[in-house]
Amino acid sequence: MAVPKKKKSSSRRDMRRSHDAISATNSNECPNCGEPKLPHHVCGSCGYYKGREVAEAAA
Ligand SMILES: [Zn+2]
Repeated sequence: MAVPKKKKSSSRRDMRRSHDAISATNSNECPNCGEPKLPHHVCGSCGYYKGREVAEAAA
């Protein structure tokens, strides 16, 4: 079994763990309907992207 060569210092360990609480935020919202959507993705609510309808709106 692979074993770590060097012990990680408490500083390095805590720096790693400091990122555990960070989660991806889908803070982008659709300019057409205002629903939260993923960046660079077609809006799942109204099907709009870049100001025009490119997909069928979800019912
Ligand atoms: Zn939308």
